[in-house]
Amino acid sequence: MGFFDTFSKLKDGLAKTRNTIVDRVKNLILLQPKIDINTISQLEEILLTSDVGFETTEIIIKNLKEKIKKNKIENSNEILNLLQEEITSLLNENFSQKNNESQKPYVVLIVGVNGVGKTTSIGKLANYFSQQGKKVLISSCDTFRAAANEQLTIWAKRANAEIVQQQQGSDPAAVAFDSVSSAIAKNYDVVLIDTAGRLHTNVNLMEELKKISRVIKKIISNAPHDIFLILDASMGQNSIQQATIFTSSTDVTGIILTKLDGTAKGGVVLSIQKKLKIPVKYIGVGESIDDLQEFNPTNFSKALIEIL
Ligand code: GDP
Ligand code: GDP
Ligand code: MG
Repeated sequence: MGFFDTFSKLKDGLAKTRNTIVDRVKNLILLQPKIDINTISQLEEILLTSDVGFETTEIIIKNLKEKIKKNKIENSNEILNLLQEEITSLLNENFSQKNNESQKPYVVLIVGVNGVGKTTSIGKLANYFSQQGKKVLISSCDTFRAAANEQLTIWAKRANAEIVQQQQGSDPAAVAFDSVSSAIAKNYDVVLIDTAGRLHTNVNLMEELKKISRVIKKIISNAPHDIFLILDASMGQNSIQQATIFTSSTDVTGIILTKLDGTAKGGVVLSIQKKLKIPVKYIGVGESIDDLQEFNPTNFSKALIEIL
């Protein structure tokens, strides 16, 4: 996909979030053409109800007030411009595009709770790397869920990737071990490791993820090279809580924010980076194989705050 296709897909995906923010800001501008105290407090409420989060909203409002004062802005029309600038700079703050892809094999561990889109994102990532001409191996370490292997096998076929799997109930660390060994023996470029999102307890799950990492390190001491936490944008502020559980026991290096399409809670992306201080690397904007995009703060805020 070229830039314009990608951007228009992003815009489509963000439509609901954009409508909750931009349409309401535009209404505000119509009702209050001149900036006053009221304009600001209503803007604050618009951001809060779009899942931007309390602390992040406070920061945006504080910065806007300063800019309004400094630049002697009196016209509400300017607000969308200021908001876009503010969002771009917030999103750039904890952003980094750098992944450890130069490693061979590049081993990526995918973690997150049930249903957030781990398996789907692995399928999309597999395709993303395959399209770059890389040899991709998918490791099916969600041995807890029935049908996990089947779902992943379908994705592997679509993405032109190979898969390593064992029977349901087998030791996920053993699957990871086999996968990484096999990737080295067969000269793979990328290994994507799918994991369970639910075990009998959270403690079990966290121990299992640690064990998978430990076992991989027996083969490649600095692997997994990236650990991506999958968060579902439609969970809004709840995803921040989920993230703190995972980040306390695994070294999450990046976030993949899924399901931005179809939710009005896309504002959560702002507090994810701000509060967790972990960069969003990719975003999911649909269920199809090419509905994964590299996250780009400038494009994201342009797609979110449309200024006509
Ligand atoms: P897992 O339990 O974390 O492995 O989650 P799955 O990958 O099985 O995904 C759960 C559901 O979310 C599936 O129905 C996916 O099609 C859907 N899903 C995943 N990513 C996206 C996305 O970016 N957009 C939309 N609309 N649906 C998604
Ligand atoms: P611990 O929990 O950190 O002690 O991890 P273990 O050393 O018990 O390894 C966990 C799982 O990974 C084991 O059940 C094995 O299946 C697999 N594993 C670990 N090391 C090896 C190895 O050298 N060869 C193979 N084939 N599997 C291994
Ligand atoms: Mg899954």
